[in-house]
Amino acid sequence: MKITRAGTTPSTKGPGDWFTGSVRIDPLFAAEAPGRVAGAAVTFEPGARTAWHTHPAGQTLIVTAGLGRVQQAGGPVQEIRPGDVVWFPAGVKHWHGAAPDVAMTHIAIHESIDGSAVTWMEKVSDADYAG
Ligand code: MN
Repeated sequence: MKITRAGTTPSTKGPGDWFTGSVRIDPLFAAEAPGRVAGAAVTFEPGARTAWHTHPAGQTLIVTAGLGRVQQAGGPVQEIRPGDVVWFPAGVKHWHGAAPDVAMTHIAIHESIDGSAVTWMEKVSDADYAG
């Protein structure tokens, strides 16, 4: 077994190509073969969000703090709050992020297929973000 102690994994910044605004990623666990699942805590400052993207095996989000927004392509922008659990099925285009005036943290859990857990697309426009 392996215990990863709190405070031993460096935080990273969400790359500007894939995120709008300030985003901090705190890795929690990497995939351990033959398993393919990995998880990270992601904190979005107010107004920050991912770009549009898909996951080849889907993704679960567990909201742990603040107030956030999610949208599946073609659907409405929806608010998410601590305790909410969001599932995006494989291949479904979506984004996730903070509310305009309140930060949001979620734990993101996703599996890789052929070594990839995400396919990035265009940024989320201010109009789309506003809903
Ligand atoms: Mn996602």
